[in-house]
Amino acid sequence: MFEFLKNFKRQTTSNKFIRKGKCRRCGECCRNITFVVDGKLVRTEEEFEDLKKWKSYYHNFFPSGFDERGVMLFTCKCLKPDNSCSMYWLRAKGCREYPKPDKKFLVNGGKPLDGCGFWFEPEKKFEEYLK
Ligand code: SF4
Ligand code: SF4
Repeated sequence: MFEFLKNFKRQTTSNKFIRKGKCRRCGECCRNITFVVDGKLVRTEEEFEDLKKWKSYYHNFFPSGFDERGVMLFTCKCLKPDNSCSMYWLRAKGCREYPKPDKKFLVNGGKPLDGCGFWFEPEKKFEEYLK
């Protein structure tokens, strides 16, 4: 029974992916930020303005373009010209954890930004799951 519970816990809580590599300090993750409103990615200035009214946090970003899907991309105002962060020691959890090995994201084909120094690998090789 104990072994069953241990396995169940491992199956349900394990990340299944681990992050490898290191940051190259390219700053791309601070320039290609997307936001979600009502479960949808922000695509218009109006939606972004609504976000800013809702939470002052969004004033820390400015629109810097669109991706190939027409989704707005934002740059963080704390990004310095040398790609360092002006509030490094106080940066948000999301910044500290990027890129995070999120199971759902990765299983659906998600990956770190092009040129990012990190990549993900399965926690265990396929054969190990068969044991
Ligand atoms: S995109 Fe990757 S390599 Fe570039 S700054 Fe962000 S975490 Fe570092
Ligand atoms: S707070 Fe720093 S690490 Fe986070 S997005 Fe802004 S510049 Fe990047």
